[in-house]
Amino acid sequence: ALTIGIVGLPNVGKSTLFNALTQNDALAANYPFATIEPNVGVVNLPDARLDKLAEIFGSERILPAPVSFVDIAGIVRGASEGEGLGNQFLANIREADAIAQVVRGFSDPDVVHVDGAVDPASDMETINTELIIADMQTLDKALVRLEKELKNRKIDASVVETAKDARAALDEGRVLSHAGLDLEPIRELGLLTAKPFLYVFNVDEGVLQDRARLDELAALVAPAKAIFLDAKIESELTELDAEDAAELLASIGQEESGLDQLARVGFDTLGLQTYLTAGPKEARAWTIKKGATAPQAAGAIHTDFEKGFIKGEIISFEDLVEAGSVAEARAKGKARMEGKDYIMQDGDVCEWRFNV
Ligand code: GDP
Repeated sequence: ALTIGIVGLPNVGKSTLFNALTQNDALAANYPFATIEPNVGVVNLPDARLDKLAEIFGSERILPAPVSFVDIAGIVRGASEGEGLGNQFLANIREADAIAQVVRGFSDPDVVHVDGAVDPASDMETINTELIIADMQTLDKALVRLEKELKNRKIDASVVETAKDARAALDEGRVLSHAGLDLEPIRELGLLTAKPFLYVFNVDEGVLQDRARLDELAALVAPAKAIFLDAKIESELTELDAEDAAELLASIGQEESGLDQLARVGFDTLGLQTYLTAGPKEARAWTIKKGATAPQAAGAIHTDFEKGFIKGEIISFEDLVEAGSVAEARAKGKARMEGKDYIMQDGDVCEWRFNV
């Protein structure tokens, strides 16, 4: 499964947030037999459509899509120099598929800030600079090799050109995910700043209702997405039942927990979407890449479904709810038979036909 690496300076609330991530019960539900590393946390992608499907089908249980996070400790100024923790940090971050950067916005004077003052813009710059320097080093090494390979006609000129363009963007202090380059030719280099980024601002609860301040912070990171939460409240929320949690959220003017937002935005940042299946046993969301075809989607359930794919009977969630049952949706002509070229749409409720 694709994972999102959580990074950030010391004392910004990463552990607090991560504890909330590991205390929710998504993990046990989705990976009952797996051994999960202590630095992995999983949250469910919130999806109210599953409740509705479970109602229509009388499903015994609901299985939302899991979103996995890895806690990547240890970034400090100078991490890119690769000493001690720095090396480990870079190796861990290389394995993540997207990066969620936790940025301190809370003011608590009892919690020391590593650079002496709470300054989100400067914190982000510190971290991004380390990642940019690490990528510069990777590119400089790679360019020596790539130039040779080009001379020996082992690779296309576009590879070297892309590497040079990327190097130039880094020189300007830009992270590659937002440099407007097609990085496909140098994908194998695993550049850190080429990964999709999202930012998690850990702010005081009062700030969560201060639209102007939130817009200001969001503008700092655009076009990357920003989410806002209070890590302390998130860890309290995981200890409450649904009703009390909703009450606490309402008391701070929020409709959705920070973890739910993190799951949603993280999932989207990874380039993923879901489709739905339902029956008497379970109503379930399956994870696929955006733009996946019907056979690829069926393959998310079992590789045999993809290999032996014939077609899928697909009803959009809205049509199904309006019809009230699969039979009624069919009668109204709302059930479509889709073949192997069909591109999956958000809210597709599917039943696959395949050869075994
Ligand atoms: P890490 O070093 O980034 O993992 O940070 P921690 O999660 O250990 O948090 C550092 C300190 O800040 C701890 O004492 C936390 O209790 C505190 N802290 C974390 N999040 C918040 C927050 O949202 N508000 C306040 N006031 N304190 C927080």
